[in-house]
Amino acid sequence: MTTEIVYLNGEFMPLEDARIPVLDRGFIFGDGIYEVIPVYSGRPFRLPEHLARFERSHEAIRIPNPMREAEWTRLVEDLIVRNAGDDQSIYLQVTRGVARRDHAFPKGVTPTIFGMSNPLSTPPAELIASGVHAITAIDYRWLKCDVKSTSLLGNCLLRQTAADADAIEVVMFRDGFLTEGSSSNVFVVKNGVLLATPKNNLVLPGITYDVVIELAQKHGVPLEVRAISEDEVRSADEIWVTSSTKEVLAVTSLDEKAVGGGKPGAVFHRMHQLYQDFKRTVMRETA
Ligand code: PMP
Repeated sequence: MTTEIVYLNGEFMPLEDARIPVLDRGFIFGDGIYEVIPVYSGRPFRLPEHLARFERSHEAIRIPNPMREAEWTRLVEDLIVRNAGDDQSIYLQVTRGVARRDHAFPKGVTPTIFGMSNPLSTPPAELIASGVHAITAIDYRWLKCDVKSTSLLGNCLLRQTAADADAIEVVMFRDGFLTEGSSSNVFVVKNGVLLATPKNNLVLPGITYDVVIELAQKHGVPLEVRAISEDEVRSADEIWVTSSTKEVLAVTSLDEKAVGGGKPGAVFHRMHQLYQDFKRTVMRETA
């Protein structure tokens, strides 16, 4: 096995050599933010969009962004080159830094910067063909779900309920309306119309979500961006989950009840194809 090379505070090193002090606020409070960028054939997908969201995350939790966009881009490229594999998932994390434990922000601390690469595991062909099981839950996370924070306890607890039920994702509702999955955005198709939740503080603004909306608009898939009720989700013809690693995946059973015909629907097949074509085009253009 090749050694995984990670980046920590200015240096590249083998994963097993990377150490952070126990008083890092990322460890103590989950006081940090992160990004996950998919890499296809050695090239990062939608990197400027990921870095723009990362910048917004810094602003949202008031950590001065320790690097400029060009430096982040360079770091991502270096991590890709130093790690094996054409398809990777680059993880970037910044925490507020190391300080004596006190909730209020410490003064004069240096943010901790961490980056690593994992193999990108997009869904296998069988799952794309069959669709996946999902369960539902009340979304009890905090009211800043638009911030890509490393404080993910709510997401982890909710995802575990799905894992316990042999389901791949948990579809969440707040006050009777769809929010998102524990690590994905959720789309619904009803009578041929693609329904998408609006971007607000209750959902993460997914990079894949944006791609799906752009593709729907460009290729004339009827689209409505609006609040989606729990009833609409439960009676949907199709449900999809989207994320940088899942791409676009059909949910074919929800709480053990078949969605639509229990198979990925026609609109899913179309969007999945559009997404794959789009990826290929972008990768060719950046080659
Ligand atoms: N919502 C949540 C809670 C997530 O963790 C993710 C994955 N980062 C997404 C949505 C999808 O975002 P993206 O398409 O940028 O991966």
